This record gives sequence, structure tokens and C-alpha cells, in this order.
Amino acid sequence: MVNRKQVLQWLQAFATQIEQNKDYLTELDAAIGDADHGINMVRGFKKVISQLTDVADRDIGSILKTVSMTLISSVGGASGPLYGTFFLRASTVAMGKHELTAQHLGELLQAGLDGVLQRGKAQLRDKTMVDVLSPAVVAFRQALEEGKDTTAAMQQAVAAAEEGLQNTTPMLAKKGRAFYLGERSVGHQDPGATSSYLMLKCLLETLEG
Ligand code: ADP
Ligand code: MG
Ligand code: MG
Repeated sequence: MVNRKQVLQWLQAFATQIEQNKDYLTELDAAIGDADHGINMVRGFKKVISQLTDVADRDIGSILKTVSMTLISSVGGASGPLYGTFFLRASTVAMGKHELTAQHLGELLQAGLDGVLQRGKAQLRDKTMVDVLSPAVVAFRQALEEGKDTTAAMQQAVAAAEEGLQNTTPMLAKKGRAFYLGERSVGHQDPGATSSYLMLKCLLETLEG
């Protein structure tokens, strides 16, 4: 089970991670983009945290919807609408709920990923956040099928996400700004995949308590 308080802790932890990794994310984006991914994410999540107190006692869906709206309205660049869509779709699964079962969490992550896929039209191996989110969602569902609990399933998801993140380095970018670099995008880890990995790792750490 994941309760409302844990969802808030997760968002807070992710905001903190983003802040601590601001320069790192921006350096990754300097290599294959326009050197603003850390800046974009920090701007968005600072705003998210400032909005959360207003919705902290509402259901998980409402909380995640607020995250979505805040990101869409405050983050320019590709990552704002993409993370915004992730949280918007995730919110629909959690609407009216104050607790999520492992099954719900799996559906929530799947819905978020589906939103990113529909919005960004990236496929696996295009060198984007999809290369982290997609293997994580698959691993989470597989772990549940094996009878694992929420935390154990999330451990497997994060392990798959980490592998997915490392796999982005040798990839040739097919989407986003990095696409325009062609072969020069090879040999660099994708910034958005990196922030998505941090997001999932923060969720795991929250579940582990
Ligand atoms: P921008 O590229 O507009 O400056 P950011 O730097 O904040 O935006 O985000 C870049 C990240 O967004 C990339 O590293 C990649 O992971 C992700 N991204 C870009 N385009 C897409 C897409 N079409 N689908 C999924 N993710 C994408
Ligand atoms: Mg950028
Ligand atoms: Mg930009």
C-alpha cells in the first residue's frame, strides 16, 4: 500500500533530488541539448512544492493533478509537458483514492508512461526518458505477477530503470534536441532519462521508509 502521506514524501524527495542534481542534469543537457534540463526541473518542482500545501489533505489523484498542472504551466521545454502528462495520466488512476494498492501503483506508472508515449511519440531506444520509464513499468508488473509486494516490485523497477539509464549512453538520439546532433549524441547519457531515474529512485526510497 502507498498512502497519501507517502505520495507527498515522494514528491518532496524528488524535488530535493532535482535541486541537488541541478548542475549535473544541466551538464548532461549541455552535451546533447541546450543546457537547461536541471534549470527546467528545478523551476517546475519548486513551484510544485509551493502548491502542495494547498492540496496536501486531498486525495492522491488531486495531488498528482496539481503536480501536473503546475509543471505544464511553469516549465518550458520538452520536459514540462512530458512530465506534466505523466502526472496527469497518473492522477486519473488515483482520483478519489487516499491509498494505492501495488496493483494501482503499477497502473499509475503504466498510465504515466502511456501519456509520455502519446505526447512525445518516442519509442524505446530513441534515447529519452522512455528508456527508463518503460523498462521500470515492465519490471514492476512482472514483479507483481511473481507475487512480490509493492516495495520489492519497486526495487526491481528501479534496477531496470538504472540499466535503462545506462543504456541511453551509446544510443543515437531520435527525439528531442539531441536528435539534431546525429552521431554526436552517441556517448552521452540522456538528461531526461536521468531525471526519470531519480523520480523512480525517490519513490523506492519513500516506500523503504
Ligand atoms: P528541452 O529539450 O526542450 O530543452 P529539457 O532539456 O528540459 O527540454 O528536456 C530534455 C529531455 O526531454 C530529453 O533528455 C529527453 O529525455 C526528453 N524528451 C525530449 N523529447 C522527448 C520525446 N519526444 N519523448 C520523450 N522524451 C523526450
Ligand atoms: Mg534542454
Ligand atoms: Mg530548453
